[in-house]
Amino acid sequence: MTPEEFRTAAHELIDWVADHRARIPDLPVASSVAPGEIRAALPGRPPESPEPFEDVLADLDRIVVPGITQTQHPAFYGWFPSNASLSSLLGDIASGGLAGLGITWQSAPALTEVEQVTTDWLRQLAGLDDGWRGAIQDTASTGTLVAMLAARERAGEHSQESAGLQGVAQPLVAYTSPHAHSSVPKAVLLAGFGRDNLRFVDVDPVTYAMRPDALAAAMAEDVAAGKRPAVVVAAVGTTGTCAMDPVAAIVEVARTHDAWVHVDAAMAGSAMLLPEMRHLFDGVEGADSLAWNPHKWLGTILDCSLLYVRDVDHLIRCMSTTPSYLRSAVDDEVVQYKDWGIPLGRRFRALKLWFHLRLEGAEAIRARLRRDLDNARWLAEAIAAETDWRVLAPVDLQTVCVRHEPPGLDREALDRHTLAWADAVNAGGRAFVSPSVLDERWMVRISIGAEATERADVEALWALLREHVAASRVVPTA
Ligand code: PLP
Repeated sequence: MTPEEFRTAAHELIDWVADHRARIPDLPVASSVAPGEIRAALPGRPPESPEPFEDVLADLDRIVVPGITQTQHPAFYGWFPSNASLSSLLGDIASGGLAGLGITWQSAPALTEVEQVTTDWLRQLAGLDDGWRGAIQDTASTGTLVAMLAARERAGEHSQESAGLQGVAQPLVAYTSPHAHSSVPKAVLLAGFGRDNLRFVDVDPVTYAMRPDALAAAMAEDVAAGKRPAVVVAAVGTTGTCAMDPVAAIVEVARTHDAWVHVDAAMAGSAMLLPEMRHLFDGVEGADSLAWNPHKWLGTILDCSLLYVRDVDHLIRCMSTTPSYLRSAVDDEVVQYKDWGIPLGRRFRALKLWFHLRLEGAEAIRARLRRDLDNARWLAEAIAAETDWRVLAPVDLQTVCVRHEPPGLDREALDRHTLAWADAVNAGGRAFVSPSVLDERWMVRISIGAEATERADVEALWALLREHVAASRVVPTA
């Protein structure tokens, strides 16, 4: 494709994207395709000769759009806000257009330095002190894995040159909340701690936040058993209920054992932009690492996840590679992001953050976050005031966990009722919510924060939930 052919096709594609974004409110929120349906609509063999661009574009509409759950829809309340601002999309397009090879500073100095600046802008916006250094990872799952590896290396007091895991005298233990996101146990296990040395610490039965006294007791028990507390992952904004583990108290307990503290604020981290919400992150300054996804609530298109660390020299000791072919004359003067994580080649992800922040401005982003908090409070109050409905966890931010509990249903029937009305809401296409298990019972999470969601949408959701609950057949226990 020549640049001129690209120009023509790209204009068409941009028109297509703009039209698509404009019609999202009219699309069903959830994709309703059957498993295998998309694959069956595509040829099994690759094309030997070029196809017209119009055909490709037409297939986007015909085949691909129905296979996408519309996270940019104003009635998307599933999983977590997965915003993809058009401003950040422009940055992503620019990134692809530049085609920078991000392997070393030398291969694309701008890629490195724009990332240094944008991660520092976000640090400032979040009110984090200037002792933090940030890099953009693909996802929080990767950021947490990197943090677990760094924590393991510090606790084992070894480096790439040492015996590695084989040289660890005492088993290393990792601690987290049972409500931490699944990427946390995954990272702990991938980092080699082993299932027996991953401990889930008790949480408060009302707030679902980790209990520091239970953490202290678990660590003392492990020390008595000859183990070494190595790392605690504080979930600040758990996935289930958006519970906020108390970082300050966790840091205090961890410090007595010199254990690493990693904060997983993948979803909730954006609330640090709001001074009135900053108390929920008290103590974060004492942590060693922090994962936060601008590709969730903040609005930057996936993938854009931040990993901040306190001791970047330690991270570099764990992650650096120095093959001769990557050497340059300025290595001592520049940041080499290849040494701050796992991949060598990196995309110019900072551009989508740079475009997002420059074209939206922090003030508008803060206003949108506050709007979402207000909407969540409004919904929680409306639901709590209604007979037979319960709000099941504190609504510190934008996640509202609810259950409709009509009288006369035993546990099993109530679970069936919950899943029935939630599935009916999702199948109806007018809204999307996420059923999830809390205290071994099904409930429904309503995660508010899509860029397009206004108060009127939340009011419409509340009406829709009542409509579906009334329509769903509840089979009372005999
Ligand atoms: N941590 C929390 C609290 C989350 O809500 C999520 C969301 O999926 C993750 C981690 C994983 O994020 P990612 O998809 O960036 O790996």
